Amino acid sequence: MYDVNSKHAEDFINHEEILETLAYADENKDNLELIEQLVEKAALRKGLSHREASVLLACSDKAMNEKIFKLAEQIKKDFYGNRIVMFAPLYLSNYCINGCTYCPYHAKNKHIARKQLSQDEIRKEVIALQDMGHKRLALEAGEHPTLNTMDYYLKSIETIYSIKHKNGAIRRVNINIAATTVDNYRLLKEAGIGTYILFQETYHKEGYKQLHPTGPKSDYTYHTEAMDRAMEGGIDDVGVGVLFGLDKYRYEFAGLLMHAEHLEAAFGVGPHTISVPRLRDADDIDSSSFKNGIDDDTFAKIVACIRIAVPYTGMIISTRESQKVRERVLHLGISQISGGSRTSVGGYCEPEPENEKSEQFDVIDSRTLDEVVQWLMRMEYIPSFCTACYREGRTGDRFMSLCKSGQIQNCCHPNALMTLQEYLMDYASPETKALGDQLIDKEILNVPNEKARSIVTENLRLIRENNRRDFRF
Ligand code: SAM
Repeated sequence: MYDVNSKHAEDFINHEEILETLAYADENKDNLELIEQLVEKAALRKGLSHREASVLLACSDKAMNEKIFKLAEQIKKDFYGNRIVMFAPLYLSNYCINGCTYCPYHAKNKHIARKQLSQDEIRKEVIALQDMGHKRLALEAGEHPTLNTMDYYLKSIETIYSIKHKNGAIRRVNINIAATTVDNYRLLKEAGIGTYILFQETYHKEGYKQLHPTGPKSDYTYHTEAMDRAMEGGIDDVGVGVLFGLDKYRYEFAGLLMHAEHLEAAFGVGPHTISVPRLRDADDIDSSSFKNGIDDDTFAKIVACIRIAVPYTGMIISTRESQKVRERVLHLGISQISGGSRTSVGGYCEPEPENEKSEQFDVIDSRTLDEVVQWLMRMEYIPSFCTACYREGRTGDRFMSLCKSGQIQNCCHPNALMTLQEYLMDYASPETKALGDQLIDKEILNVPNEKARSIVTENLRLIRENNRRDFRF
């Protein structure tokens, strides 16, 4: 039975409720009167339910879709301004005992090179990432009970936070690792992680079983209830997502929103971020053999509908997407992107020899971080290296209430400018720096109040003189 408050996966991701939702969306996909009402409701910026948003996703009316895209763009601007938060993945280990049919880490894949970074190798990778200018990482690993242990993760997090190289520092470590216990989530929280990220892959239970035939990840219930355990363990920023291409996108979309509704109902705070990865070719994986792939137009529509359904939830896009696709969806709702990413274990220090490839998937956008930063600024976005919220304790419901009231802008905009200025001073190419300095001078005028503006102006001056503190609002 569908019950948003229940802690049981089968209740809050209820199959019948999703089927009814899809039938309701089908019945109403040409009901322009209802769709108009839903767009008006969405314009209040309080979000939409999974049923309502599913109707918008199903709508194929051209003029109405234009309205939906326009609204998504406007909501994006209202909640996130023109800031885009930057991050990079750091692959710690690709040892894995699962049998996921879409992932090159699957245990039967004998030709992928298996690697796990030692603490010394992590140090080298982090220095390479700091030298690019990154301040925020997402740790990635396969699931292996004796190699990728909680002790290993905790030690790795400690190592990463301890490295101070030149003006570099990793200030926020997010982590994307297999579903685990409440006690382990508590340990991750104590280690100072930012967001705990776990993709559901698919919300369709029967499909899930086929895609995850063996290994601990094959337990749909344990996987689906992971975010509840994470929150019970004290992690109040969690990141959800599905891997688009595995099952039918409309089913996944409804499931994703039901998951968000459940977390909000059960814990008073929805997911901090939603990721929208699409299945890619990888070692031993031919994405064309999966029959539910989605085209770029559908992908853009999904992003726009998520944006208006959960306006205050950050949205993440990785280098699985091309520059062109990233550009399109940035406007529609994405708030965080990766840049200069490597998906191989140890890939930031040295390129891997052909016969020792450990990559997770083919990176489509292979530009450097400097190129990505410059590209964003040419579109008048402010690349932000800010990590202040979590360091100031603005996480979970505290963050959400500031975000819902729009007050978060008062911190985010100044912090984005100051961290961009640090980046420009320390890591940017001359061309990127010149462009960024101009953009910052223009954007200072958009700092919300006079007092904050004068503090930011003074801090920017100090940064430009290389007189550093940990400036943040
Ligand atoms: N072990 C963790 C888990 O079980 O969720 C992390 C897995 S992996 C490092 C991160 C994500 O990569 C997966 O959750 C999956 O969605 C995605 N992924 C796996 N294979 C992929 C492929 N062929 N193309 C694109 N993304 C893929």
